[in-house]
Amino acid sequence: MEKKNIWELYGAEELKEIEVLASGYRNFLDRGKTERECIDITITLLQENGYRDLDALITKGTKLTRGDKVYRTLANKLLVAFNIGKLPCAQGMNILGAHVDSPRLDIKQNPLYEEDGIAYLDTHYYGGVKKYQWVTIPLALHGVVVKKDGTTVTVNIGEKEDDPVFFVPDLLPHLAREQMEKKASKVIEGEALDIVIGNRPLIINENNEKVVEETKADAADSGKDLIKKNVLAILKQNYDIEEEDFISAELEVVPAGRAREAGFDRSMILAYGQDDRVCAYPGLIAMLETADVAKTACLIFADKEEIGSVGATGMHSRFFENTVAELMNLMGEYNELDVRRTLASSAMLSIDVGAAYDPIYKSSFDKRNASLMGAGVFVSKFGGSGGKSRSNDADAEYLGYLRRIFDENGIRFQTAELGKVDAGGGGTIAYILANYGMKVIDSGIAIMNMHAPWEASSKVDIYEAKRAWAAFLRSDMMTP
Ligand code: MN
Ligand code: MN
Repeated sequence: MEKKNIWELYGAEELKEIEVLASGYRNFLDRGKTERECIDITITLLQENGYRDLDALITKGTKLTRGDKVYRTLANKLLVAFNIGKLPCAQGMNILGAHVDSPRLDIKQNPLYEEDGIAYLDTHYYGGVKKYQWVTIPLALHGVVVKKDGTTVTVNIGEKEDDPVFFVPDLLPHLAREQMEKKASKVIEGEALDIVIGNRPLIINENNEKVVEETKADAADSGKDLIKKNVLAILKQNYDIEEEDFISAELEVVPAGRAREAGFDRSMILAYGQDDRVCAYPGLIAMLETADVAKTACLIFADKEEIGSVGATGMHSRFFENTVAELMNLMGEYNELDVRRTLASSAMLSIDVGAAYDPIYKSSFDKRNASLMGAGVFVSKFGGSGGKSRSNDADAEYLGYLRRIFDENGIRFQTAELGKVDAGGGGTIAYILANYGMKVIDSGIAIMNMHAPWEASSKVDIYEAKRAWAAFLRSDMMTP
């Protein structure tokens, strides 16, 4: 079976749709660089399309009926949305599940220090990163600081044209003889991933005014750590936050700058966080475009996938099944057995990225079974590593069912494995939902430079993914 580039298969009308989707996607990426920001935008889009907050309906005891649309979020990091179908839930739902967390550098709880005239913020990286890729590039700071009184300060520094940015320093090549002999995993150590945030001391100008206002208490011991104090004075002035407020902050360091079109032909998108927003976005659009459905359509945006789907907002939490129970309760369909039947009889696409075949690194791939960039959405029967270890492995019957849906809707799709057998491996949230006994398979989009600060995707793959996943949500066939 030959895989081929699908660009030439489109007419003018579809080429226009491809660009509209790609530009909406770039906007989504620019406004959603953290899991919280992604969920915020998603809620806005869901509300604009008639979705209501399930928690508010639970409080009021509002009944739900066929055709109602609801969403529910946990801590603005994990989200589930439902478009209630005509059939009883217990006959199964069609579920799309993506994740909205991405590899990054997280600011530690006691992060601020000054050494030899430079102020830094200490970080702890999140997810699988090649640490050497994160040095010397412009970085932005996104997140929240929750103060003792419960108020939340939203931080977003480094994205506007005239914002300052931050950076992790690296050693100049002239002095790197020793560093260059190290293994790639050791070239930049985890504790070396601290960002530079200042180099100017708190100063008093000729009018005897402090350039940045500080409190009397701070002035009393001036002379020591003046650069750190200047940074703190700026934080106080601009955000009304103090050093202790880092204790209750979630600040994420991400590459600064907007998503860009890539290539002379503008066929690709280069951006931070495409794993897994390149699937989350077309999944969301597929959900919004899907009107009357027979089976209840469900969209999951999970957090913490990059560190094992752990914690309250990760896919392993009970939030999803609890929410299904709440939904069925408001529909008057709740009982314990039917909740279990709903989960067991559902069909799911775990929508997540795969590795795009790259001829520069061909020895890491099996070309015939790799996903080619620009060759359409992929389905991946299994993942895992070292003999499919820890993999979901979809059954042939479910693949047959999906082939029928995709073929009936003219979807350009390919099959894919992550890479060459024994080259390594990876996982998604697929195996977690499979624990309910539902049909689960991975489907997604090929990415180049996955987990790098800037990842690349193809516009046509995003378009085919949206079409495929919309067809899946509309499907009322019974899963085998
Ligand atoms: Mn992923
Ligand atoms: Mn990943």
